[in-house]
Amino acid sequence: MTDAFVKYINETLCEFQIEADRVATSDIEAGIRTIIKDILDAIKGTVPTFEMSDVIPTGSFYEGTKIGAPDEFDFMIVLKQLTGPDKLNLHRGCSDWYPQIELKQGMVFSRKYMVNTFINDEQRHKNYLGSSRILVLYFWREVREMLKRKTFSIDTSRGTISSDSCQKKKLVFFYKHKVKKSLPKPKNEAEAKLAMVFVESLKIGVDLMLAIEHPCLEFILQLPGFPNSFKELLFEHKCHIVAKSCHKDHSCFPACWFISFSTMERELMNGMNEHHKKCYRILKSLIASDISISWKCMNLSSNETSLPDVDKTRFSAVIWIGFGIRH
Ligand SMILES: [Zn+2]
Ligand SMILES: [Zn+2]
Repeated sequence: MTDAFVKYINETLCEFQIEADRVATSDIEAGIRTIIKDILDAIKGTVPTFEMSDVIPTGSFYEGTKIGAPDEFDFMIVLKQLTGPDKLNLHRGCSDWYPQIELKQGMVFSRKYMVNTFINDEQRHKNYLGSSRILVLYFWREVREMLKRKTFSIDTSRGTISSDSCQKKKLVFFYKHKVKKSLPKPKNEAEAKLAMVFVESLKIGVDLMLAIEHPCLEFILQLPGFPNSFKELLFEHKCHIVAKSCHKDHSCFPACWFISFSTMERELMNGMNEHHKKCYRILKSLIASDISISWKCMNLSSNETSLPDVDKTRFSAVIWIGFGIRH
């Protein structure tokens, strides 16, 4: 019974329900990457501050742990002007992992994003970057303005992706499939639930995180708490300082930024074997969704408890994951 339940969850919630052969999925992924680069290129033309040296995929799609349709993508975009050797001095902010960023002598960056505080006519910390919120605000303003002026669109082998809108800090794209294809019609309701759904169109959300490549990986290695066994991973995939502030309940002066290991996390997750990834996806889908499966089909013990259904489901998933990992 446990097997049947897990298979059901995997098929109904974890598999991409877009096409049995998955070609459309990689088609969408490649298209989204290209269109993001096109948008960033256009922005660079108007605001050189927002020239990016890299667009780095992160998040669950690239970790191989995405559930549902390929409708969410995350990228870290690397600010070219602030990335590279001899550009920054980092200072300890609220903790080792929240640095304050000082620009080295001779470095030029738009004054708008620097500390502009005067005390008794004396400008303090004038070479420090100010709050990342301002940079993020202006970046998304540019994105919105750009999308108002121009629709970005790209043909992929199976369909078309076009820019739809920009909501706060998320880009929305619209994917339309070109090819009409008939899939076998399900015979009854139970079959319909399990059937591959042919999706003709899809809204896709893209999150972009502004980042700076960390200028000194040796420094990270020396920080207390950084596991030495991750040294190779760190040097291969680097780490970043992202435009996120330290804590919500206070503001620091100069403002802290945030060290992110998302490229390393992506590789670690990706390196898990398929069995563990499947366990992870199933657990995630159980936690993320309201599952309307009768408790009876997965009742492993004869004892009835008073837990609400969703808690029972989560609880079973945890047991099962523990079981799956041991075997
Ligand atoms: Zn801070
Ligand atoms: Zn703080």
